[in-house]
Amino acid sequence: MEERYAFLAEWYDPSATLLRRYQLLYYPKDGTVEMFDVKNQRIFLRRTKYDGLHQENLFIGSRVSVFSRQLNLIAYGDQYTANKLGSKKERTLAMIKPDAVTKLGDILQAIHAANLIVTKAKMTRLTENQAADFYVEHQSKPFFSNLVQFVSSGHLVAMELMGDEAISIWRRLLGPTDSTVAQREAQHSVRAQFGTDGVKNAGHGSDSVAAAARELEYFFPSTTGHGLSNTAKYTDCTCCIVKPHAILEGLTGKILNSISAAGFEISALQMFTLDQTNAEEFYEVYKGVVTEYPNMVAELCSGPCLALEICGTNTPKSFRGFCGPNDPGTARHVRPTTLRAIYGKDKVQNAVHCTDLPEDGLLEVQYFFKILDG
Ligand code: ADP
Ligand code: MG
Repeated sequence: MEERYAFLAEWYDPSATLLRRYQLLYYPKDGTVEMFDVKNQRIFLRRTKYDGLHQENLFIGSRVSVFSRQLNLIAYGDQYTANKLGSKKERTLAMIKPDAVTKLGDILQAIHAANLIVTKAKMTRLTENQAADFYVEHQSKPFFSNLVQFVSSGHLVAMELMGDEAISIWRRLLGPTDSTVAQREAQHSVRAQFGTDGVKNAGHGSDSVAAAARELEYFFPSTTGHGLSNTAKYTDCTCCIVKPHAILEGLTGKILNSISAAGFEISALQMFTLDQTNAEEFYEVYKGVVTEYPNMVAELCSGPCLALEICGTNTPKSFRGFCGPNDPGTARHVRPTTLRAIYGKDKVQNAVHCTDLPEDGLLEVQYFFKILDG
């Protein structure tokens, strides 16, 4: 029988103001999808080719878009799908501590090479009380106050990583707790490369399924409105979005490294999955102006994207120059060292969005970090 994955999916129908349920079928061999209306027991979408769906984004809790409908995948549709895809979906909390935030690009490359995917990410900062709360299991240890002080000393990046054995793989990537031991025993580990000593050791990883559940809930609470604040500054800044196709291709780490190497500071960072309405709203100024507008919207909501607030001298203009012309083909001719020349494929999948008009830099940053991160 032909391989196919089945999911139970929910779609909020705004005109009827109700939740509709579908069985979503995905056939990996030819990239086709098929949908059944569960309540009315009939075919909703005949088996059709649809390029916007990727196996990497098919897991419980994910939001995917199928022909402009934003679907929430709420359960596996059959035992085969649960066994085949579910076993590979362990989740863990990875926290990049303040001493290694500028090394995030390198760390993301290691995560990608280890076959883990980033499903959530947010740059934030903890107060001393919050750090003490997070590390409550260590409160009687002699190093507790040093630890709390260090972890609350600057920005950190919290991420949810997902994959087969994510918990143990991420801890192996981190290496031994003490960075000096890591330098002796695991030279390529994150702590060996980016840590300094026993306290300043670059990163944190959950050590069990129960700890992962608690720690993920701490940084990414399931009830809205309880999350930690992002770190956006809203001054002398511009907006950059790593597009879904680039994330899927595993280019995020390289792109962040290029941005830092060019002297720009990433002052806020967060992963979002946009729905059709948000993507249309964000790209409003291109509507009727750029022929690619509908495809740009489709690309932006085809999977998770990574929004960045970029600070540097003369942004947005200088950063826009660094991203290069919209069309990567043109960019490779006239500006071969720009982000789009190196990482882009075509005008729609051109790796990054960056603010075009100088006066829009702040507005675009606010759209993500004030409006969407509500
Ligand atoms: P891990 O982070 O590897 O799970 P622990 O849970 O034992 O390690 O400790 C939490 C954090 O406390 C460590 O990552 C490190 O920052 C700090 N820490 C642990 N042990 C010591 C120590 N002996 N001296 C100083 N700091 C320590
Ligand atoms: Mg620990």
